[in-house]
Amino acid sequence: MGIDRTKIRWNGWGWAAHKDDLADREDLWAWLAAELGMPALLATPGRAFEELSLPPCALSLEDRHGLNGIVGVEHVRDDAYERAFHALGRSYYDLLRLRAGDLSLAPDAVIYPRGTEEVLTILAFAAARDIAVIPYGGGTSVVGGVSGSRGGFKKAITMDLSAMDRVIDVDTVSGTATAEAGIAGPALEKALEAKGFTLGHTPQSFEFSTLGGWIGHRGAGQGSNRYGRAEDWLVGAKLATPRGLLATGDVPASAAGPQLKDLVLGSEGIFGIVTEATIRVHSRPEVSDYRGYLFHDFESGMAAIRAAMQEDVSATMLRLSDAGETRFYRAYGRIGKKRTISHRLSDLYLEMRRFDDKACALIAGFEGRGKAASSARRQFDAIARRFGALALGHRMGERWQQGRFQAPYLRDPMMDRGVGVDTLETAASWSKLGALYAATRAALKTAILQTVPREGAKGIVMCHVSHSYPDGASLYFTYIFPRALDSDIAQWKAIKKAATDAIVANGGTVSHHHGVGEDHAPWIAQEKGMLGIEALRAVKTALDPSGILNPGKLLPR
Ligand SMILES: Cc1cc2nc3c(=O)[nH]c(=O)nc-3n(C[C@H](O)[C@H](O)[C@H](O)COP(=O)(O)OP(=O)(O)OC[C@H]3O[C@@H](n4cnc5c(N)ncnc54)[C@H](O)[C@@H]3O)c2cc1C
Repeated sequence: MGIDRTKIRWNGWGWAAHKDDLADREDLWAWLAAELGMPALLATPGRAFEELSLPPCALSLEDRHGLNGIVGVEHVRDDAYERAFHALGRSYYDLLRLRAGDLSLAPDAVIYPRGTEEVLTILAFAAARDIAVIPYGGGTSVVGGVSGSRGGFKKAITMDLSAMDRVIDVDTVSGTATAEAGIAGPALEKALEAKGFTLGHTPQSFEFSTLGGWIGHRGAGQGSNRYGRAEDWLVGAKLATPRGLLATGDVPASAAGPQLKDLVLGSEGIFGIVTEATIRVHSRPEVSDYRGYLFHDFESGMAAIRAAMQEDVSATMLRLSDAGETRFYRAYGRIGKKRTISHRLSDLYLEMRRFDDKACALIAGFEGRGKAASSARRQFDAIARRFGALALGHRMGERWQQGRFQAPYLRDPMMDRGVGVDTLETAASWSKLGALYAATRAALKTAILQTVPREGAKGIVMCHVSHSYPDGASLYFTYIFPRALDSDIAQWKAIKKAATDAIVANGGTVSHHHGVGEDHAPWIAQEKGMLGIEALRAVKTALDPSGILNPGKLLPR
């Protein structure tokens, strides 16, 4: 039932048994050091789990007995591994703290409920005994969404939903499915596949993240252009709150006032705990066609995506790298490989076609029924050519598909070698996107330069357009930099602040799909306005009067 937590890294990404293919790639590390202006990389491993100590468990014997009585003693865990594993999520900031051995935010215990009734009983019990409750799906939040912060409470438990992972019903007539919220991506897709369906929600964290987490932070999968974001596919949900159960209904559409499901989407566990959800599913696609294009620059690539969205081309994914990201992955892919004649010929051809270092690669995906997918592909092909692109065929698309869930494994070996890597994302309307891109990129570059430890060291800032709409798109930044080892956290905070200030000042949202959590909460009032925050606080007070649910997340302090 669920994913065994001991099989996942407690202070890094993914399966504990995952083999680090890069360990012996000296050529690659030397290249990265040169790119970052570092004379050499440094050995900076995280602290061993056995060396660490946790704060004492603050639960009383009565608390413990009460919880045991609700879920059974085997589903209340307070061993060191469980508490450490659930202390934080999986952002760069979280990993800095975990690797340094900072377990100050570890919950007092981790509870694994097995149904809505148990969740409701735990919440009522926790509210009566002043225990903060942190809802936890896969724990892959990158915005401090599951950190064990207690607010003003002395005691905190994390409620890990992973034992609630049943698919309750697949309604093949309506094309909907109902599942428990703790089900992780692969298990949900397997159950849907058996009935010929897919949800198609594939965030890069797919293997470990859960249905409840996707809804909780309004996530977007890599194929969101076709399959939609959480708000597009959520039909209805059950939200367990300290005041009782809020069921949002499951009609396909309704004009009966504001929809309660909008209180669930993006509520990040502060209003209640999603225990079940009904979702819209699709027939499995007959065709999955991913291919590459090369544009002369970022502007023409963005213009092509905008045209495709405004001309109703039904692509599954249009992912456009900026020139920095295109150059980085090209160089990375060639490290350690002999420069062959075919490399030379392709370079020559690109030169002839006037593709220089401003060139930008785009991966386009088309899924669905055979004819519809190929018609969409042909439509996009024509648009891409209209904007001067070169069609590169399938290889780039296939490589992306093969590695789509692997890239996160690169972060731990980098952090082991004195290199930091983080990501952030935003969205804005097309008319603001160019300025937003330039300002965020400049802010990241400047902040990195100001915080790198040595003269001559520099950062790498890359970006891609990841999700698009007729009226705008999201930008996803990845930045790599030499770690300031004696002030890692201050470095992260300075870079994050500079970038988020630039995003807010240039009309972007603080998050397109990662959510708010603790990390973006300081900026949320600027986005929602004080009246908006007051309205959200009023909802919180109605559903969670004692404020036990996920303290410190989403709302400003
Ligand atoms: C490497 C990596 C890649 C990522 N790629 C993507 C991506 O492509 N797209 C994307 O959208 N996100 C992405 N993310 C962010 C993150 O994985 C997503 O936010 C994910 O959907 C969270 O799901 P989870 O089950 O891990 O939720 P958690 O991290 O456990 O929780 C997320 C938030 O929802 C709350 N929550 C969790 N379950 C429930 C519930 N049942 N009821 C109420 N609240 C709940 C938590 O308290 C928290 O506030 C990525 C993260 C990583 C580390």
